[in-house]
Amino acid sequence: MRIVLMGPPGAGKGTQAKLMRERTGMAHISTGDLLRKAVSAQTALGLAAKGYMDRGELVPDTLVIGMIDHCLRTDGVAASFMLDGFPRTVTQAEALEDTLKTGQVPLEHVISLAVPREELVRRLSGRRTCRQCGAMFHVAFDPPRQEGICDRCGGALYQREDDREETIRARLDVYDRSTAPLENFYRARGLLREIDGTGSTTDVLDRVLVHLEAGRAA
Ligand code: AMP
Repeated sequence: MRIVLMGPPGAGKGTQAKLMRERTGMAHISTGDLLRKAVSAQTALGLAAKGYMDRGELVPDTLVIGMIDHCLRTDGVAASFMLDGFPRTVTQAEALEDTLKTGQVPLEHVISLAVPREELVRRLSGRRTCRQCGAMFHVAFDPPRQEGICDRCGGALYQREDDREETIRARLDVYDRSTAPLENFYRARGLLREIDGTGSTTDVLDRVLVHLEAGRAA
């Protein structure tokens, strides 16, 4: 299956994608994770992207499109994947459509997770991420067993530069401006489904899976 997961920062795209990967074994491609890896490895891409990311702005389309194209075309255009955090602009969506056309593997679902803005700010400002394995916790809603230490791998937890309150608001504004028009792009193609992203992670996963199953049966 080929799925795009959309939604503002903090809507739970990464969490849902990881749960779906565990359930279905599908590849999970997160542009945010790939870019953070490039930043810590100090590659040319990472050095070019870091400033934009720290300010909560979008990394330029050409850089991100090049990165994802490379990822999807390794061993031919991937036939099954979940994209998390890409596309974020109409230009990126058009580039993705072209790449998938080449491999004759069109997108099947675009899921947009909807969460009220104040809830997003609460989720993001309390988020802590493992430096080693990328696992995410929340200081109030999902605290680690030992403060500052990842339950999974023992790595150190930190607050991402872009999870600070001022940057969070900038990221949400960027989402409203650049990414929301994407919904129209995918709505026009009959691919978009908005899903309530509030409640427990398993509640949200159930809603997503019910939608995907309905698509399979149709
Ligand atoms: P995320 O982890 O998805 O919230 O992404 C973190 C940051 O990486 C974003 O605030 C952007 O600066 C950058 N980024 C991730 N995906 C994209 C994308 N598709 N286009 C442009 N910038 C991106």
